Amino acid sequence: MTTTQPQLPIILSPGLLLVLSAPSGAGKTTLAHMLEKDFPGAEFSVSFTTRPPRGNERNGVDYHFVDTLTFEQMIARNEFVEWAEVYGNFYGSSKRVVEQSWKRDGIGIFDIDVQGGTSIKRKYPDAVTIFILPPSMDELERRLRARSTDSDDVIRRRMLAARAECEKGVHSYDYLVINDVLSDAYETLKGIVSTERARRGRVDLTRLGLQMP
Ligand code: ADP
Ligand code: 5GP
Repeated sequence: MTTTQPQLPIILSPGLLLVLSAPSGAGKTTLAHMLEKDFPGAEFSVSFTTRPPRGNERNGVDYHFVDTLTFEQMIARNEFVEWAEVYGNFYGSSKRVVEQSWKRDGIGIFDIDVQGGTSIKRKYPDAVTIFILPPSMDELERRLRARSTDSDDVIRRRMLAARAECEKGVHSYDYLVINDVLSDAYETLKGIVSTERARRGRVDLTRLGLQMP
């Protein structure tokens, strides 16, 4: 009897390119920052946006806030790995963090919407896509209101978009994590990172004198 080794469908880079998406308010930014704190090689991708800062958001920390002309110039210079228009504003992710994620122990964390995540996955098929779901739509609305950063009108628009975003995410992402109790959702997320790091092709075998598969 002959056994054939299943072929790796894609070439895996040593680090992880992690895409976290969710309807706004489901908790992806909270979870992304927890990961960044726990994993020394992790870098959160600070997106560029043309939307104005809200609440106590800081330039260069939550987003790089730029005007539309600057954003258009960055598109022309091909500085984004992906960009999209969301709720009437432009958002884009810089290419630099993708390169960081190729390093051993590197984790590039992208906190972006499904269209951005899908376009990263198309360019980099070994990207790991994780969709964060709220436990219910009522709880999502409660979190958006509790965050106290959006007007009633913006919250209404976000709630309308939330169902469509969930539909897209649950059908196309690799993993789904329900963020009910934050600590439980975070444990699941950490589990996914550990599991993905243990995949054949990502484990460092050089110290064993073995060739990478
Ligand atoms: P997103 O980045 O998906 O828009 P945030 O991370 O900003 O969402 O979270 C939205 C709000 O919900 C924040 O005020 C956050 O502190 C809160 N939050 C996040 N996760 C939970 C949870 N599991 N339970 C209760 N509140 C949460
Ligand atoms: P918010 O205005 O609530 O910060 O973000 C609105 C939406 O834009 C969220 O779904 C968020 O994930 C998404 N977003 C943030 N940064 C980027 C980005 O760089 N690219 C894309 N495609 N979406 C982004």
